[in-house]
Amino acid sequence: MAFESLTEKLQNVFKKLRSKGRLTESDVKSALKEVKMALLEADVSFKVVKQFINSVQEQAVGQDVMNGLNPGQMVIKIVNDELVKLMGSETTEITLKQGNEITVVMMVGLQGAGKTTTAAKIAGKLKAKGRKPLLVACDVYRPAAITQLQVNGEKQGIEVFAMGDKKKPVDIAKAAVEHARGQGMNVVIVDTAGRLHIDEDMMQELIAIREAVHVDQSLLVVDAMTGQDAVNVAETFNEKVGIDGVVLTKLDGDTRGGAALSIKAICGKPIFYVGMGEKLSDLEQFYPDRMASRILG
Ligand code: GDP
Repeated sequence: MAFESLTEKLQNVFKKLRSKGRLTESDVKSALKEVKMALLEADVSFKVVKQFINSVQEQAVGQDVMNGLNPGQMVIKIVNDELVKLMGSETTEITLKQGNEITVVMMVGLQGAGKTTTAAKIAGKLKAKGRKPLLVACDVYRPAAITQLQVNGEKQGIEVFAMGDKKKPVDIAKAAVEHARGQGMNVVIVDTAGRLHIDEDMMQELIAIREAVHVDQSLLVVDAMTGQDAVNVAETFNEKVGIDGVVLTKLDGDTRGGAALSIKAICGKPIFYVGMGEKLSDLEQFYPDRMASRILG
């Protein structure tokens, strides 16, 4: 389970705090020191941890007791609220155009992050909401990706637009949007090629697709298991291509969870969804407040 160790450590700190009727400044400081260690061990980026602790400390020290809460509970509440703030205080979703106007969504990310799977998962969610999505196979460098998208699309009852692996991704994307228009479809989800590492060719290709078909939303898919690397990837993609939101996959695995807490603070873009498994139904909307409660246990 994600966050297991972080939750356990935070619960130990809070147990100590709750047991005290009064809290001295040094009680708060030593508790926050433990919170800091727990966050760092969960692979939350150092800069984020530092700001987080400073902010909690400022609010916690010299805090009057609020109605019904003892000082320990106050600190826990402050930590909770700061966690929510860190992840973005409100839920953010893909912005879709109204009616029959086509929204083009481009999925980007490194190979193996879960892009192809997530594209199909999102298409399924949109279909369930009454949208008419089209999946587009633009990952022409990994032939298996085209088949994978077709298999997943079929499972979801969603059409997959593919032109094999000989055409240029930009041309496939253009043809797909035309096709969607002709068929009265209103969301086009373009699955793009990933590489093992960020490279300039990949970025240029994404920019070319974005310009050619007027992408409305670029969604970056990152693997939560890669911790701070996921955060670095998000920062780089945002700088080079520009992203609107992030999907954090494999949160069902044994990840320490730091990426969930750092991405918004570091790259400024919110997490839209989290991947909770390999099945096509295993995609959840990301709610910062629910995630904070889950982390605090
Ligand atoms: P791509 O190279 O980015 O297109 O990645 P794929 O969509 O092919 O996914 C790579 C692997 O990760 C596949 O085995 C997926 O089933 C798996 N995967 C994707 N999302 C999740 C998730 O949220 N949880 C788990 N456990 N596995 C996932």
